Amino acid sequence: MAMQQITILGSTGSIGVSSLDVIARHPDQFRVFALTGHSRIEVLAEQCQRFVPAFAVVPNAEAASQLSALVPAQTRVLCGVEGLIEVASHSDTDTVVAAIVGAAGLLPTIAAAEAGKKILLANKEALVMAGALFLDAVKRGGATLLPLDSEHNAIFQCLPPGFTGVSGAGLSGSGLSGTGVSKLVLSASGGPFRTTPIEQLMTVSPDQACAHPNWSMGRKISVDSATMMNKGLELIEACWLFNVAAADVEIVIHPQSIVHSLVEYVDGSVLAQLGNPDMRTPIAHALAWPERIASGVARLNLTELAALEFEPPDAVRFPALTLARQAGESMGDAPTALNAANEVAVAAFLTEQIRFPRIAAVVAEVMAGWQGSELACLEAVQDSDSRARRLAQASVAGYQDEV
Ligand code: NAD
Ligand code: MG
Repeated sequence: MAMQQITILGSTGSIGVSSLDVIARHPDQFRVFALTGHSRIEVLAEQCQRFVPAFAVVPNAEAASQLSALVPAQTRVLCGVEGLIEVASHSDTDTVVAAIVGAAGLLPTIAAAEAGKKILLANKEALVMAGALFLDAVKRGGATLLPLDSEHNAIFQCLPPGFTGVSGAGLSGSGLSGTGVSKLVLSASGGPFRTTPIEQLMTVSPDQACAHPNWSMGRKISVDSATMMNKGLELIEACWLFNVAAADVEIVIHPQSIVHSLVEYVDGSVLAQLGNPDMRTPIAHALAWPERIASGVARLNLTELAALEFEPPDAVRFPALTLARQAGESMGDAPTALNAANEVAVAAFLTEQIRFPRIAAVVAEVMAGWQGSELACLEAVQDSDSRARRLAQASVAGYQDEV
């Protein structure tokens, strides 16, 4: 394998830290080219001291001067979205780990796509909000798109060779015909509130929502797992990545998070990818693809596993799933609105402005009145995103007196 120069967008987060852990195990194959962080500047400084990247990126000039005092002389400090775009598309980087959370990751990830990079995509929100434009950029730039999300990485590993999608084929709605594949099955843990009495959900705290039973993740995706909006976003993510329709994707709850997802074939075969719930496995898979490298993840001991359970998701407990499926069926800018409303609602819950069940209620209100349109350009994405955020803020305001 040739030496890969790697940019990690969002290196201070959960996926970023796991990526650096895998990279550090293979100094002969990977070199860190650029690291970026938004808030935890001390963590970014430590990462720069350890990996000595050519660039580090922070949100603004103030953070840049703070970081500059803490990093090796070889590391140039840039700031803002321009800085993120520069390191994502720089001619000296081969591989970009897209691990910024939320809509903030869109522009740098698109820049990496246009520049023809190998993109390891964790930032599902970018694909959900701008799927067609994102995949156009992948195609135009000749980029390679590999899924880091554990479910999509599992499906990618179980699909037949040469399957469309991932290379950027885009949504046709009939991606499965002629492939021998009959269905994709996304597994979901059900999160921390899978069995909590529904009436108690009005009083759960942000920390309880972030206490995921199997995975340790950033706070936004942890809340998304608790509402199961994460699986809803992943349903739309799967439609884009694998060129399938929402109806081709089933969601099943699997509380142990050992079976990471499955592919059903027309002959009745079902292929699944299993492993311990540790993101270093999909990260190592995508970093080395099509080869394989060690990840540091503990081996799965089948005889020590408790039973593997599967159950259908409860639509009453998890209304976000239905909202996301509807957005995935209508596409256009409906997923953009869904994602934006959800980001606003999750942030409001995390700052204790609204109660947990109101996250889905806010998204439902925004989607109920949403007049869909097509997304012809990135400005249209930004417009739909901003419009949905304003509507969501108004909806949040209506629930604030409950807190
Ligand atoms: P996190 O909150 O731990 O880290 C987010 C990173 O993004 C940090 O480095 C942060 O500094 C940076 N960031 C935040 N806001 C930013 C902004 N406005 N501009 C630039 N940078 C910003 O999140 P995470 O759990 O690592 O998740 C990252 C992405 O990966 C999310 O899209 C999430 O859905 C996806 N993902 C995460 C996991 C997981 O196990 N953590 C699994 C699958 C997918
Ligand atoms: Mg996932």
